[in-house]
Amino acid sequence: MDKYQVLKEYFGYDKFRPFQEESIDALLEGRDLLTILPTGAGKSLCYQLPTLMSEGLSVVVSPLIALMQDQVRNLQLLGIEAVTIHSDLSDANRTDIFSRLKSGRVKLLYVAPERLILPQFITFLKSLPLNFFVIDEAHCVSEWGHEFRSDYQQLSILKEHFPDIPIAAFTATATREVAVDIAKSLRLKNPLILRGNVFRENLHISCQPRQRNGRSQILDFLKKHPDESGIIYTFTRKESEDLARFLQTQNISAKAYHAGLEKEEKQRVYEDFVHDCIDIVVATIAFGMGIDKSNIRFVLHTSLPKTIESYYQEIGRAGRDGLPSRTLLLYNKSDEIQKKELIQNTPNEHYRQILEQKLSKMYRYANSSRCRHKMMGQYFGDEVEVCGDKCDNCQKEPVCMEDITTEARMFLSAIYRTGSRFGQNHLIDILRGSQSAKIAQFGHEKLSVYGIGTHRSKEVWRRIIDRLFDLEAITTGVHRAVVMKERGVDILKGKESVKIDAAQLIEPKRISKLKTEDDRPKDEKFEALRELRSKLAKEASLPAYIIFSDKTLLELASYLPQNKAEMLSINGIGEVKYERYGEVFLELCKKLREES
Ligand code: ADP
Ligand code: ZN
Repeated sequence: MDKYQVLKEYFGYDKFRPFQEESIDALLEGRDLLTILPTGAGKSLCYQLPTLMSEGLSVVVSPLIALMQDQVRNLQLLGIEAVTIHSDLSDANRTDIFSRLKSGRVKLLYVAPERLILPQFITFLKSLPLNFFVIDEAHCVSEWGHEFRSDYQQLSILKEHFPDIPIAAFTATATREVAVDIAKSLRLKNPLILRGNVFRENLHISCQPRQRNGRSQILDFLKKHPDESGIIYTFTRKESEDLARFLQTQNISAKAYHAGLEKEEKQRVYEDFVHDCIDIVVATIAFGMGIDKSNIRFVLHTSLPKTIESYYQEIGRAGRDGLPSRTLLLYNKSDEIQKKELIQNTPNEHYRQILEQKLSKMYRYANSSRCRHKMMGQYFGDEVEVCGDKCDNCQKEPVCMEDITTEARMFLSAIYRTGSRFGQNHLIDILRGSQSAKIAQFGHEKLSVYGIGTHRSKEVWRRIIDRLFDLEAITTGVHRAVVMKERGVDILKGKESVKIDAAQLIEPKRISKLKTEDDRPKDEKFEALRELRSKLAKEASLPAYIIFSDKTLLELASYLPQNKAEMLSINGIGEVKYERYGEVFLELCKKLREES
């Protein structure tokens, strides 16, 4: 039989999907292969079919027992002999499988990486007629990938023991860097590398800052998709349950799914969803691996995913049938902080840094105002055109832009003057004239840029910096130090200007620990400070709040600072303000302390 006949006879399909035929031909020619295709694109067939056309047995490495069992069951249904060896097998079963393998009828053997690399197992494999090795989920090999596993890394010994047996690696997501690393780690010889297009033209992508718990945004979104099938991803198990319950109270057909549920319950939810008995699954990321439901109309995330790789995989579960489908990501900065804390538990230092970088890239992706499809393409090393109308950013009304070239140059100059060795928080501290220990340690208070940026709050500085990341004027280097790119140099030299959506420059309202305006204690100290403020304001013909806000006065009244350092720790008093008004207020505070 030729490959078209096998396709029809065994699998029942008439046509190959993109890249399947190329993958199959490479394996039939005995060439090493790396195929990168999205989930659901049909990677399994790329190695199952050529195995059927060859004499011997192919060995498939896969990370999850459940996935291996699924595959074996599917193959048995197609009349193809396949087995899996894993730790859950009884001794009797294992003996039976070994003798079947020796008989030569088995076409596919599925095995976990930690077993494959055992010396006895390698010896056993050497006694069998092997066609090729398949490494499924091959991104796990790479430290630059998002799911690095050390047992996968050890697969590098395969080429030592089996120099003449081809290796075919498959993954759904790999940046150019990861692809090169996979090929290198597995020691592939002149591999054929096939990469599917990143652009999914039937997916509409949008990202919004989450307002409070995001529920009204979720309801707004669901209102536009009544009775449609969708997945909502939450961060924790509890959130998945709470949100599912909340949606049920709104008469929306939804159920929770997470790793903590009983096996039967998980199976039931899964089947209800696949059979369209419920519309929505509210799940942790445990849900969706290997799911084969083509009519998922939307995927909604309630918080920031950890990496662009996982985000792409998760939104990729929508619209497999090619019909228009939507995605919405709700996120905010605290998600990034929360997830960064989790990453700190990663024992491998190098890998931890990579995960941190991936997380901040995910945040910048969500926060960007550029075409989301194009950015996705850039991330994975694929050329994608600006989509025009398939992402929120392309559809946005033009916004009012404000020039921030001055601020941009202040920040870039701070990078330059500190030797591109510091993270953004420290750079902001320099610009805002902070008196932190780190500033003193490096003598940064002596820099000409020290204290020149007090007119913007930390939060607004962060947005300005996000904008510079977005414009690719800066990027992160080792240890999250901010470094300048070519465009940054141009901006610094005054060759290019920078603008930002004016709304980004509005100071966020601080949630004050102090009482609000109306019910604050109108004590004598506050009144005395206020008197001084209005006297100074009158003298300088300035509105009083420009000198110090009420909040600053309240803080002054409650702490009564006694020296410059204490004054500077008060909210709203930076170096510049201190220069102008610090001493008179300090004088008064000292006097008030004596009186009290
Ligand atoms: P992946 O491993 O890339 O996530 P699968 O191998 O699980 O994807 O394939 C996804 C689905 O596509 C399966 O149901 C499979 O049977 C189907 N499929 C694969 N190749 C073809 C083809 N050439 N024509 C039609 N359907 C196919
Ligand atoms: Zn776009």
